[in-house]
Amino acid sequence: MSSSSKSPSDVNMISGANAVSGVKVKKIASVAAQCVACGVCAKACPLGAISAAGGHSAAVSTDKCVGCGRCAAACPAGVISMIPRPAPSPSDGGPTVSSAPAAGSSDRPATGGSHSGSAAGSASSQAADVPHSAPTAGSADRPAAGSADRPAAASLKSTATSSGPAFPSARGAGKHWYDYLWIASALYLTLGFFNILFAWLGLICFLVPLLLAIFGGGKVYCHKYCGRGQLFSLLGGKLRLSAGRPAPAWLRSRWFRYGFLAFFMTMFANMLYTTWLVFSGARTMHQIVTLLWTFKLPWNWVSVAGVASWAAQFAFGFYSVMLTSTVLGLITMALFRPRSWCVYCPMGTMTQEICRLKNRGGRR
Ligand code: SF4
Ligand code: SF4
Repeated sequence: MSSSSKSPSDVNMISGANAVSGVKVKKIASVAAQCVACGVCAKACPLGAISAAGGHSAAVSTDKCVGCGRCAAACPAGVISMIPRPAPSPSDGGPTVSSAPAAGSSDRPATGGSHSGSAAGSASSQAADVPHSAPTAGSADRPAAGSADRPAAASLKSTATSSGPAFPSARGAGKHWYDYLWIASALYLTLGFFNILFAWLGLICFLVPLLLAIFGGGKVYCHKYCGRGQLFSLLGGKLRLSAGRPAPAWLRSRWFRYGFLAFFMTMFANMLYTTWLVFSGARTMHQIVTLLWTFKLPWNWVSVAGVASWAAQFAFGFYSVMLTSTVLGLITMALFRPRSWCVYCPMGTMTQEICRLKNRGGRR
């Protein structure tokens, strides 16, 4: 992740303005309970001060955070607030790591306090040394797009280059091979127009995230290897095709996320059943791709000659799933923030739940 690639000099340069050194910084990022552990904030943070490495929730390192608000501006779920920096505890004499669980939530880490307030200003406040309003207690919802409570992306950008400390670039620094997996995703969708059997490769996007989460990798797939998420970042961020609003509260609510997961898995099971019917000879193969589980698109220009009909049927069904999820992701990318799909992606929900369960097990 790019945030981990900061040079020591970069970090030292910025920590000169950090509260740890005793000056200026009045705010700190705080993550609410609805965090989906997508890891977008970690990519946005120029200091590596926030991480979703555990896969169940993001956590802020108070000794690194300088309250710039970049993470809050990037979070697709809109669950990060900038709150007044808590005073260091006299007992420990210094900063701690805040995982910011919501009060009363059973799925939050046990450490840290509940921060559900909103920022009083933008990122410029980090250098202005002005008082900030106290967080609003108890609210699980975040400020709406365009609200004065939210740090605007544009102001963050200008602040970082004018009055604030000169942040090292969070993007572009230390590119890795996996930063280009969006090409594979784009290629995958394109190849389905020419040979539907390439759809089978989509199983990688189903199995790898689950296996990584089960065997201790957390949500590393979402954080690093999800080409589709990268594609949304590219289209919505670099090409500015995104409205840039945080996802609405209903989209990040548990009932919607788990309801969508249940619906998604039901449709997936139905697709497997159809494949079985073709395999058993109970029905013939249908050479169609179904978009949004409703619109049947004729796909009969691709040749399936010489292929077992059940294998082709599975490919049509799986391609339908991948195309549908991409179209949904593009719609929410356009309406909200670039990676809003990550807020309700069934794979993201499943892997987060696996990490949550593993985390609970580890604490017993
Ligand atoms: S939802 Fe994603 S971007 Fe927002 S705090 Fe959680 S991990 Fe970070
Ligand atoms: S407020 Fe700035 S420094 Fe703090 S975690 Fe967010 S991006 Fe990083």
